[in-house]
Amino acid sequence: MRLFSRDKPKIKIQTSKRDGFSGWLKCTHCTELTHTNELEQNRNCCPKCDYHYRLSSKQRLDLLVDPNTFEVKFEEVVSSDPLQFVDSEPYPDRLKKAKEKSTNSEAVIVGTCQIEGHKIAIGVLDFSFMGGSMGSVVGERLTRTIEFALEKKLPLVIVSTSGGARMQESTLSLMQMAKTSAALSRLCEARLPYISILTNPTTGGITASFASLGDIIIAEPNALICFAGPRVIEQTIGHKLPDGAQKSEFLLKHGMIDCIVSRHELKSKLAEFLEMLTGNERSNEQTKNATPKERKATRKQTN
Ligand SMILES: [Zn+2]
Repeated sequence: MRLFSRDKPKIKIQTSKRDGFSGWLKCTHCTELTHTNELEQNRNCCPKCDYHYRLSSKQRLDLLVDPNTFEVKFEEVVSSDPLQFVDSEPYPDRLKKAKEKSTNSEAVIVGTCQIEGHKIAIGVLDFSFMGGSMGSVVGERLTRTIEFALEKKLPLVIVSTSGGARMQESTLSLMQMAKTSAALSRLCEARLPYISILTNPTTGGITASFASLGDIIIAEPNALICFAGPRVIEQTIGHKLPDGAQKSEFLLKHGMIDCIVSRHELKSKLAEFLEMLTGNERSNEQTKNATPKERKATRKQTN
């Protein structure tokens, strides 16, 4: 028998970094301390002040999409280096590093999925891949997804987060604005709905093209949404912008977006809009063969 033994559990100190955080985090918005695990469980929103931190494309899909319904498409479209661009390092090296860092093959992931039973085509941008910048591949993958939605008569949802056009592809990047916008106009002519979701930050050529063309434009709270950032504007016009300019709440007030939806309610709100725009009841197994009365009851339950 051992006396005075110290067999208490050892204190574990979390040292590994995940998604840019390690252990305790001081919220940049309210300065309260929060643990990473608590933050993750709360969908990357601060449990104290509800500030919405960034989500990776995978986390975003987990948040919005019905389990096991996402099918990735157009992964074969990958970046080349048509301009042989070199800044502080060659573009192919940057791409390689970005792939390793984000586990994505590009700054957008596209495919088909179901949201509360609604079949849709979806594109989700990922800020961790070169700031979610739009080069030829982002433009091409999104355009193919829009064309796929057109062919299969599916509604479209795009979740944006981006620093704008990708400078390493110069004009080729800027051409993606026209390409995606033209494809969306064909979707509009076919009377197929497109819902655009803007998250922090959505800027530059993305705001100036497909992100602002939704039939319904939803933004997350307190998200920076602009073409040129506040610093660039202030330097150009020599005036300070009003407080909160270029944030979701300011844009809602000035009629640039349709609504602000918290991340906690985003999926159910999206399903509601899809139902309203398509006139279709949810098409999952639960409701496929149901009578209108049964569908109404299911809808009440899920809400
Ligand atoms: Zn906070």
